[in-house]
Amino acid sequence: MALHITQDCTACDACRPVCPNEAIATGNPIHVIDPLRCTECVGAHDEPQCKLVCPANCIEVNPDFVEDRAQLEEKYNQLHG
Ligand code: SF4
Ligand code: SF4
Repeated sequence: MALHITQDCTACDACRPVCPNEAIATGNPIHVIDPLRCTECVGAHDEPQCKLVCPANCIEVNPDFVEDRAQLEEKYNQLHG
């Protein structure tokens, strides 16, 4: 499951530098997560780093991108291969 950012985002930019996959981009007006790059931090960290640092609590799972842990690990390996 990739994560996505809701309209409550304040574009504070805290999340973008902590993403191990460079999956977060500056959008207009809110930041955007590329679901093809987000692994929920599987492969790099125990929990999603963007959610940890987000002061607006506006990062949720993206129901359109359902993936199990093995798929997320494979995705991470392909990104960093
Ligand atoms: S969950 Fe991890 S990989 Fe996905 S956008 Fe957040 S920091 Fe990046
Ligand atoms: S940390 Fe949260 S509020 Fe800040 S830019 Fe990222 S998603 Fe938006």
